[in-house]
Amino acid sequence: MNVKEEYLRVYARIDLDALRKNMEHMKENLSTKTRILGVIKTDGYGHGAIPIAKELEPLEYVYGFATATAEEAFILRDKGINKPILILGYTFPYSYERLIREEVRICVFREDTLAQLSKAVSDLSMNGIIKKAKVHIKVDTGMNRIGVSADLKGLAFVEKAFETDGVEVEGIFTHFARADEIDKKAVEGQLKAFWDFLALIKERTGREIPVKHCSNSAGIVEMPEANMDVVRAGITLYGLWPSDQVRKDIVPLTPVLSLYSHIVYIKEIGEGAQVSYGGTYIAKHKMRVATIPVGYGDGYARGLSNKGWVLVHGKRAPVIGRVCMDQFMIDVTKIPEAAQGDKVTLIGRDGEEMITMEELGELSGRFNYEFACGLGKRVPRVYTKGGQILWTKDETTDF
Ligand SMILES: *Cc1c(COP(=O)(O)O)cnc(C)c1O
Repeated sequence: MNVKEEYLRVYARIDLDALRKNMEHMKENLSTKTRILGVIKTDGYGHGAIPIAKELEPLEYVYGFATATAEEAFILRDKGINKPILILGYTFPYSYERLIREEVRICVFREDTLAQLSKAVSDLSMNGIIKKAKVHIKVDTGMNRIGVSADLKGLAFVEKAFETDGVEVEGIFTHFARADEIDKKAVEGQLKAFWDFLALIKERTGREIPVKHCSNSAGIVEMPEANMDVVRAGITLYGLWPSDQVRKDIVPLTPVLSLYSHIVYIKEIGEGAQVSYGGTYIAKHKMRVATIPVGYGDGYARGLSNKGWVLVHGKRAPVIGRVCMDQFMIDVTKIPEAAQGDKVTLIGRDGEEMITMEELGELSGRFNYEFACGLGKRVPRVYTKGGQILWTKDETTDF
């Protein structure tokens, strides 16, 4: 695949076929009535929320999308995404009228939110816009982050939400804190607390909330008993693993993102020469050093200084010295064929060798989620399907 010269410095290839495969494999592991909510917060875990949403929206079993903020939701609506969008966290009241107008589902768990939403609905109606605020109630079953408690106090909130003018309770959900561990005791406790709470609501109000959901990626892979109306797929969409404790033989995953650069300079240095800021690497013998024009300004973590690896001609080359904002150095002494202009794989496969987001996440003291989210705006994204470039996106183009 040839990219334009502007992308030789660095680019991330986003393989939409891999994305589609990951979705299909997850779907195969779900009950037929369970639909998937694609979690595309932080610009789709750094992969690009819009192209990911455009690729997934036509799939019948995709319920919709989840974001973390109102702005992420507005961008999706602006770009023509019509399926339900749920904001997973608290949203501040300035956004309510627009969220309601654009039918973005709001996560509720605070009493004041219900009254504020009701007011926003009534203000809109005075301007001739007749819409309800669709909400999903967040229930805390053990994460202790956000959500009402799964008890009589929580029930009172649910009843209040049912009674609030202008508010439509479309969904209810909880979030697992430890679904990605081998020991499933904690997550089973959370699941039971959620089931019990749903039963309590049914018993006391006679109502059933239409869209119930609890599973994240780890739950999708390992907890079929937690399938409900919807599951929330985040990291697995992108072909990455929730943790190294999750079984890899149940839902096969293919990494969606690979990251490439090109060698811009090669030189020889002598014994005792120091490489990069702080002189943290000192050559023990004569060696060949290549410079890669990528740095922590692109999200290539400084924590990879003297720790990371890249692939050149299918061979591993170590990062030497500190990673700078825009450049870093590698040792190519054992790769004599390496030359200026050669392709470098920072994440992905080259021949027999592979460097994963998991490996770099671990080596840099981040983890795969954080490494993916950290890949910055300065890295162009190249979207491929069937081996062809479908779209490109970079700092100079609006998508
Ligand atoms: C981020 C998030 C998810 C997705 O988690 P993954 O582990 O990436 O699948 C699901 N639900 C909530 C509430 C989240 O915040």
